[in-house]
Amino acid sequence: MAQSSVLCVGAGGLGSPALLYLAAAGIGRIGLIDPDRVDESNLQRQVLYDTAQVGQFKARAASQRLADLNPHIRIEAYQGELDADAAAELVPAYDIILDGTDNFAAKFLINDASVKFGKPWVYSAIQGFEAQVAVFNYEGSACYRCLYPYAPLGHIANCAEGGIIGAVAGIAGVTQALQVIKIITGHEGFEPLTGTLWTLDARTMATRTLFIPRDAACPCCSKNPEEIILEYEPQNCEIIDREVQEISVEGAQSIDNAFYVDVREEYEWAGGAIEGATFLPLSRLMDGHAPDLPEDRTIVLYCAKGVRSRHAATMLKARGVHNVVNLRGGYEAWLRENA
Ligand SMILES: [Zn+2]
Repeated sequence: MAQSSVLCVGAGGLGSPALLYLAAAGIGRIGLIDPDRVDESNLQRQVLYDTAQVGQFKARAASQRLADLNPHIRIEAYQGELDADAAAELVPAYDIILDGTDNFAAKFLINDASVKFGKPWVYSAIQGFEAQVAVFNYEGSACYRCLYPYAPLGHIANCAEGGIIGAVAGIAGVTQALQVIKIITGHEGFEPLTGTLWTLDARTMATRTLFIPRDAACPCCSKNPEEIILEYEPQNCEIIDREVQEISVEGAQSIDNAFYVDVREEYEWAGGAIEGATFLPLSRLMDGHAPDLPEDRTIVLYCAKGVRSRHAATMLKARGVHNVVNLRGGYEAWLRENA
């Protein structure tokens, strides 16, 4: 444990609980990078900080708190954003990378740098009552781009700040810390979430684990490391196209000739879909794939929850396909209505 090192990208809702447990566990060298200052509104989930630290840079406040918790470890705090240069410098310097970020651009950069430099990384995403954790690029497992080849433009994953339940971020962050500790100890009986997406719905406490197969055509891990180019393109999170018409499950079912298009990824499609739907994953649409869609029927796009399909609808509209609507609440709403 004392010989190991971890880099935590982001010291917010996920990084706070993760860092506390990693420091307490005695990980010998802990790096953290964060560009922001502590804001009073952070305190409901960023348990690393207290009211006296409001206004301080998180990098500084976090390193103080962690040093107080465990003076026997080394804390290396970087104030700034993990951009392509910082990733190229920091990722090779640590054993394991922990993702405490809240947006796709950062997660893709962490993934690409981790694959390039051969580091396992522990992913998490949270929204409302839902949390996901996975370990990517470990012992030949899938990487994040095997799951999501490209960032869904305009996805609002990073706009959910107000919708984050502090305790859910806590569970996710602690679950990430546990994966790091399992990887470091390497005990035979321990099974980190290697290439496995663990999801929690904290409303019911239902959990699922889903194996993510490695994609032989993955735009990242199928390449040679020297071919992987690190890029960082932060996105705006305003984009919700109001031009796209939303339709309820009931509304969609009342259309006689609805043509359902499932824009989820293959592993989701394999788990069940709306009967008669056409499979057209968002990743393929983003590759510029021009689908052959009927002009005389209402095309109802859906994904798991209605966010990716809204983006797909916007893209299709931009390509001149106007008879598209977005299924509000996605396949999950469909299942609820048709239970
Ligand atoms: Zn991959």
